[in-house]
Amino acid sequence: MAESHVDLGFIEKTEPSKLTCQQFPSKVGGKPAWLSLSPLPSPNQLQCSKCSAECIFLLQVYAPVEEDENAFHRTVFVFLCKNPDCHQPNSQDPFVVVRSQLPRDNDFYSSEPPTPMTPAPTKGDKLCVVCGISGPKCCAKCHSRSYCSKEHQTIDWKTGHKKNCSESCEDMTTDSSQILFPEYELQIEEEELEKEEEKSEAEKKDELRSFLDSDKANSLLPDCSPGDLEKMSNQSTDKVFLKFRKRLEHAPDQVLRYERGGNPLLVSGENKPDDIPKCTCGAERQYEFQVMPQLLSHLGVDRMEASIDWGTLCVYTCSKNCYHGNQYQQEFLWRQDYSNQV
Ligand SMILES: [Zn+2]
Ligand SMILES: [Zn+2]
Ligand SMILES: [Zn+2]
Ligand SMILES: [Zn+2]
Repeated sequence: MAESHVDLGFIEKTEPSKLTCQQFPSKVGGKPAWLSLSPLPSPNQLQCSKCSAECIFLLQVYAPVEEDENAFHRTVFVFLCKNPDCHQPNSQDPFVVVRSQLPRDNDFYSSEPPTPMTPAPTKGDKLCVVCGISGPKCCAKCHSRSYCSKEHQTIDWKTGHKKNCSESCEDMTTDSSQILFPEYELQIEEEELEKEEEKSEAEKKDELRSFLDSDKANSLLPDCSPGDLEKMSNQSTDKVFLKFRKRLEHAPDQVLRYERGGNPLLVSGENKPDDIPKCTCGAERQYEFQVMPQLLSHLGVDRMEASIDWGTLCVYTCSKNCYHGNQYQQEFLWRQDYSNQV
């Protein structure tokens, strides 16, 4: 991905075979398609810092950095806690981000580009059969199924393993649909903007007025009356919000914006990201991508977890792209919600 422009991510239903680790996918939901296959982040590293539950895989972005031979392959993974109580406005507590990088010659994959026939790598840590993160625990009776946690072992036991334990059950799949998010490919395309001429203030005002009168304003912000919008447009905070909405009009289905080293498109002028912690290597972190609120409608959370919600999730990664061999490096997610006035 080039760095001078924004790339957008769109959701696409696709064959599960295109989303395996050896295809180096960008994807949403299902189980993570790990890049380095050992050592994986421990279940502890992927715990919610609020309630200590195992976080669930949300998405991953495959984003190699051309000029860095240790980032020939590079993927950033985002996990979140599904406990609605952990999701407070502007709080990053229920999110975990990790980054993995590999050189072209590495312990897991061929140095040649993958084909649809590329076989799955044979090396790697055991995975939790329920959620797909590292599974250091196993069923004490049959020793053939691995789990990240007691909770997920219990789920597997109740949803079928109780019946099948002691039979040969390595290949049995668990019904993880209650746990995992629906799985999609994340297709990355360049953002295209029509060239906007400099507009006069009067033209801008007219435009805003007709936008506010249109159905579009309603569909972009259904729980907001046109009066609210009018009020908003007079406040500086909400100019940021209107800019956000305006930019999205070019491609309303985008679920991700990618611009490593660029700037996120904020949803509000309040609570700006000015306190991003440095990487453990000592380097500053820089903005890499943001997850848009449009993704929520594809996750089935409206139905299940009423309060999982966000304005935008901005992921910041090490500007030096520090390399730790096959180890995963923790990165930082900063969450911004719509301002209270909305
Ligand atoms: Zn939690
Ligand atoms: Zn698990
Ligand atoms: Zn068993
Ligand atoms: Zn670093």
